[in-house]
Parts: sequence; C-alpha cells; structure tokens
Amino acid sequence: MDRYAVLGHPVAHSLSPRIHTAFAQACGVELSYTAIDIEPGVFATRVEELREAGYRGFNVTLPHKRAAAALAQHVADRARLAGAANTLIRSGNGWTADNTDGIGLIADLTHNLRLELAGLRVAVIGSGGAARGILAPLLATKPGRLVLANRSPQTPQKLAQDLASVGTIEARQYAELAGQSFDLVINATSAGHQGLVPELPDRLFRAAAMAYDLNYGPAASPFLGWAEAHGAARTSDGLGMLVEQAAESFLLWRGVRPRTAPVLAALRA
Ligand code: NDP
Repeated sequence: MDRYAVLGHPVAHSLSPRIHTAFAQACGVELSYTAIDIEPGVFATRVEELREAGYRGFNVTLPHKRAAAALAQHVADRARLAGAANTLIRSGNGWTADNTDGIGLIADLTHNLRLELAGLRVAVIGSGGAARGILAPLLATKPGRLVLANRSPQTPQKLAQDLASVGTIEARQYAELAGQSFDLVINATSAGHQGLVPELPDRLFRAAAMAYDLNYGPAASPFLGWAEAHGAARTSDGLGMLVEQAAESFLLWRGVRPRTAPVLAALRA
C-alpha cells in the first residue's frame, strides 16, 4: 500500500489524515495517510528515513515548509515564488517540492464561494509564510488592486519587491488603509489563535464585500466576527482552502483530483 503523511510540529491536530483518507475512499484508491511529528532540525534526515520505509509523498506544515523546499531536487515555480513547500512528491530521480496553498485558496474563493476575482480590490492582511504563498496566485486572477498590509511594516515591502516580476503589490501599514475600502479582505495573520483581531481601520469593506480568514475553527472567529460588525456582507473561514489544497496535493501524487464538496460538507457537519 502506498504511504503518505503530513509532517509538522505539532501535527496531532491536523485534519489532513481525515481529508486524504476520505479522498482515497471516494476515488477507490488504497493508501495510508498519517500525521508524523518531526522536531525542527532533523527534517531532511527523517524524510529520507521515511522514503526508505516506503513513503511516496508528504504534506508539510509548520515549521517545516521552508525546509521542504530546500531539500527537494526539483522545486515547482509555485513553491519557489512562495519560498516554501506544502507538498513533496517522490519520483524516480528525487523529491519535487510544490505549494498548493495558493491554488487551494483560489479554488475555494472561485468554485466554492463563487467569487469572480478579476477586477476586485483585494487586501491581504499579514505577511508571513501563508501570505507569501497566496500572493502570486492572487495576482494571476488579475485583481483590480492587491494591497498587502502587516503589523510590522518591513515585510510587505520585501514581499512586494520579491514578487514584482509577477505583478504589482501595494505594500501598506495598517494605518495607511484608513479611507480605503475593498471587495475582498483576506486575513492571513495568526492573530486569531490568540483570540485577537489585527488593529485595522473601521471602514475596509465595500458594499457586498467578503471577509475571508485563512484560519478555521475558533481561530477564525475573532476576525470574521469583527468583519461582520464592520460591514462585510459575506464571510468565510479557511476550511475550504484546506480541503482544496489537499485535493491539489492528491492530484500531484495520484493523477486524479478528488471531489471536494462531500469532504468539506462532512468536516463542516
Ligand atoms: P506566520 O507565523 O508566518 O505569520 C504570522 C502573521 O500573523 C505575521 O504577518 C504576523 O505579523 C501576523 N500576526 C500575528 N499575530 C498578530 C497580531 N496579534 N496582530 C496582527 N498581526 C499578527 O504564519 P503563517 O503565515 O504561516 O500562517 C498564518 C495563518 O494562516 C495561521 O494561523 C495558519 O494557521 C493559517 N493558514 C491556513 C491555511 C489553510 O489551509 N486554511 C494554510 C496556511 C496557513 P508580524 O509580522 O507583525 O509578526
């Protein structure tokens, strides 16, 4: 039986085993998928041991996404632009690193939430690893404008410079968003894990605007609650992104993209 796993630290909380097991059942594929905790510093060694034990692919989560991109013999453009990988694929001549987070977000926004992104005014709040992974895919949808704002002011500028060849990202500080409004505001911070909301100006949402949080579960509640109270017409957490990025990884490993709607519905239930 082909073996796959999600690698992280901590990783016991991960929904990926449940998602991929459901995909495999739906596709009639026999595989095993588990969560494996790997301490920082020994990532490459453990990946090699797992390969020898018969593993053919991995999802990778915090804190190993950069290490995953670094160990691969081949790095897909998406992972290179993101500076990190969430998927490792074993082929005859080594590991390929890819990043399906961004395409997973776009699939959730466009297919599940029926948002037409072209021409929209989009703001991404937060400029950590997750933000970096979604910016190039967002630019590819041809938004009307793409603004990147963060609590610490330097990182948005650096990201905008790094991705300048892909498209224009307007780097801003939170205070500079005052008086500006958007059709889509994406929270890509981890503030919700501390029960916090980024300290944003009040009137960010245009009529019919959507607030989207990459987080899901209780960590999404602070920002989405704030957004509803401040004029967002629609809100969504990032559970759909999680399921869609998983489907893209499954496609890379198995050559088939599973249907996501039943799995997303089961997780929400
Ligand atoms: P990082 O640690 O790389 O970055 C954290 C970001 O959050 C930084 O921009 C940081 O700002 C900001 N931040 C943290 N606390 C606060 C606060 N109190 N107020 C304002 N900003 C704050 O994390 P990631 O980018 O990897 O992940 C971000 C979130 O996205 C995580 O919660 C993660 O779970 C989620 N995620 C969801 C995915 C999905 O599939 N749905 C996929 C990937 C990530 P500063 O630079 O100023 O410190």
